[in-house]
Amino acid sequence: MRYLLLIVILFSTALNALALDVVYPKKDKVSIKCKTTFFVGSADTKSPLTINGVKVPVHKSGGFAHFVQLKPGENTFTLKSNGEVLVYKINSTWRPAPPPSKDKKPSPQVKVFPTPRLVYTADDKTPIRTTPVSAGINRIVHLQKGVPLYIDGELGRFYRVTLSSTEKYWVAKNSVKADPQAKGGKSAIISKAFKDTGKYLVYTFNLSNKTPYILKENSDDDFKNGLGLNFYNMVVRPDTPYELYFPLQHQLFGYSAEFKDEQFILTIRKMPEISPENPLKNITITVDAGHGGSEKGAIGCLGDYEKDITLDVALKLQKELRRQGAIVVMTRESDEKVPLKKRVEITNESDSSIFVSIHGNALPDNLNPLEHRGTSVFYYYPQAKGLALSILNAINAGAGTKNDGVRQGSLAVVRNTNALSVLIELAYLINPEDNALLVNEKFREKCAKAIAQGISDYLKSLVQ
Ligand SMILES: [Zn+2]
Repeated sequence: MRYLLLIVILFSTALNALALDVVYPKKDKVSIKCKTTFFVGSADTKSPLTINGVKVPVHKSGGFAHFVQLKPGENTFTLKSNGEVLVYKINSTWRPAPPPSKDKKPSPQVKVFPTPRLVYTADDKTPIRTTPVSAGINRIVHLQKGVPLYIDGELGRFYRVTLSSTEKYWVAKNSVKADPQAKGGKSAIISKAFKDTGKYLVYTFNLSNKTPYILKENSDDDFKNGLGLNFYNMVVRPDTPYELYFPLQHQLFGYSAEFKDEQFILTIRKMPEISPENPLKNITITVDAGHGGSEKGAIGCLGDYEKDITLDVALKLQKELRRQGAIVVMTRESDEKVPLKKRVEITNESDSSIFVSIHGNALPDNLNPLEHRGTSVFYYYPQAKGLALSILNAINAGAGTKNDGVRQGSLAVVRNTNALSVLIELAYLINPEDNALLVNEKFREKCAKAIAQGISDYLKSLVQ
């Protein structure tokens, strides 16, 4: 009994006296290209923690976060807690922008070609963008290899693509190539066909040759739901888009388009049958636990890895969705590394109507972890915005997280899956209060139940 008491005392002392540990910055002597950064880690809750003499609050879980300013060059930070001292040297490579010089260089202008040139997409999934930048939400379509494009100018690493007299977009120079054997880029519809396979509506267009196209969701005011399709460079309409519209009676549930030689195939998934009493029954849902294996994801204040938190929530969600009758597909069920491409393949090959990716949030050096909390849900295609909102509301209500909003984001797993696809950032691992929630199993259980509830509520709303 005496031994037991001693063990209990030792154990409780160990619990109270957390050693000073820094999880970010990852090591002493780092270079950061920013004028601010933050320290995230854990410390003894009973002793004061100071960083360069400034008292830093330690959360009752032991976690802390502290935002600091950096001067250009070397910065020294001394962390003190309970007799422990850690010294960090951080080199800031950030430099203030030079004052604008009088003979300012003019901003680069588009160099317009005397006559448009014909080129061909060189790779599958070549993005056509609204701006000459390789980032952000500016992709208008991804084209397969061998689609003819007229380019009429260049700017930096991009060519300007003329689709019609009023629509000009951009393609990376290294994504296209000229073809001296080219016949000319105009196309014509030779025949078309339609098939309802039960699960899909399949529209087939036999074209004289491949041609660029754009798909637009809900583009017709007369229909609440549906898909618009514009073909360009058509013989019958060389300067304006050849517009088609596919009205739907119901919410869009994912779609895809592809060329098979000169045949253009548009596949629209029909809304699955939803029972108002049991909305999740027989709905195929892919659950994607973010990161895994050597990809640890973000590290929480207490040293927990995002990959373990996401897997635990994903497994709990799998159980809950199955309990309610859903057909659940997992991209991983253990601590393994799964490439993003593989996650997309698993989702598309399983014909999932819904894709949910589970993550925990972190921040770049310029943002203060103490000012960011809560759940955010990302979508890419407008068709998934309603689902994103429903899941966000359910997590806020069911798990008690702060509302960090629904946002459109160009995330590979969300963009490339043919389903209603969303990515959930449950809470911030580097915010001490949020992190204390994430490491709590009861909270993770609530999150899983709430995500299932959010999906269920959304499906139910479609049949009421
Ligand atoms: Zn993540």
